[in-house]
Amino acid sequence: MTEQTLAASPLPLADVISANVRILRRRKRWTQEQAGQEWETVTGRAVSAQTWYALERPGGRAWTADDIEAAAYLFDVEPVALLVPLDTCTQCDDQPPAGFICAACGVEGPRKA
Ligand SMILES: [Zn+2]
Repeated sequence: MTEQTLAASPLPLADVISANVRILRRRKRWTQEQAGQEWETVTGRAVSAQTWYALERPGGRAWTADDIEAAAYLFDVEPVALLVPLDTCTQCDDQPPAGFICAACGVEGPRKA
């Protein structure tokens, strides 16, 4: 993401949260299924992999204050950190090549087939 798109920040707030949740999940190296299980551990409410997939998409979830609090707890960040666009990794742009783990952010690339 360039400086310019960050400054403009045209995204609706819910989409910013969804995008941040995707980045933070990948930094934890959780699959969407694992993230859903962790969510259940925190909230007692199960989230399927399909639901998690949707909530990372623009327009995929109407984030409630409860959701934001749970996600912040889950990813070890302050709730307010979810409300502003996270910088993507300057080393790998959050997309390391297949078979590699970024040394800077810890995101794992797609597994080699
Ligand atoms: Zn990285």
